[in-house]
Amino acid sequence: MSQDTHTNTRPGRTSGLGACAIRTDEPAVSLCTRCDAPTGWTARRVLGQGVAICSSCHRELGGARLVPWEDSTEDSVVASFLKTLFAALRSPRIFSIAYTRAASPLPAVAFGAVCMGLFPTLSVIYLLATGDSLDIALVELFDTAGVSTTPTTRRLSALIAPSARVPFVYACHACTLWLATRVLGARMRIRDAARLLGYPYAAYVFVLVPPVFGIPLGFTIGSILFFNGLIGALLMDTDLTPGRSLGAVMLFALGAAILQMV
Ligand SMILES: [Zn+2]
Repeated sequence: MSQDTHTNTRPGRTSGLGACAIRTDEPAVSLCTRCDAPTGWTARRVLGQGVAICSSCHRELGGARLVPWEDSTEDSVVASFLKTLFAALRSPRIFSIAYTRAASPLPAVAFGAVCMGLFPTLSVIYLLATGDSLDIALVELFDTAGVSTTPTTRRLSALIAPSARVPFVYACHACTLWLATRVLGARMRIRDAARLLGYPYAAYVFVLVPPVFGIPLGFTIGSILFFNGLIGALLMDTDLTPGRSLGAVMLFALGAAILQMV
């Protein structure tokens, strides 16, 4: 897997390759140098910077291990979720190389959406159960908005809020990442961007780490791991160079920050 698997075409200069040999509904973006098959974005398996083969070759080479979350032979949803969470956080690079993902972006998006909704909700439950600081903040929030509520309504709205905003935040992030990678020369669709974001969202688990002496430790660690995961995903799943991947992630962070303020 050294010289013979180098990609001979980079995205952005790929017109004229025709359709993907594996997923014929997609245009090919590169040739698999192991078997020369024109390969689309979904069927490509990037093994490292500038090294990509088709999914059939990847399977033949023993790289067919599915992400536990996408593996229907896993015993329980909870176990597959936790295994995937751990693997994605431990080493984004190994995670991207070692596991094959489904052609559909749905499993990755579902995983990301669960992380984005579940962990902040658990954090709200923890705050409500361990003191009245959140209750006080909620009273202020509703008073500022001029809405009269009961404590139960306030608590319920705090519990529902993280999950309710998942579709909107996820969609905004996917569009932002899509735009950032387009600017830097990668060729992907919004659904590909949504798929790339799914597993790096495992970093949301760090919202469960409470602030230490007023320092938002969990948020800081989570952000670092999220961006690390996203760079890993971009490096492995696109042909962006490390510099451009970093640039895309910084552009994405800027866009996400602006969206947060709006
Ligand atoms: Zn091949």
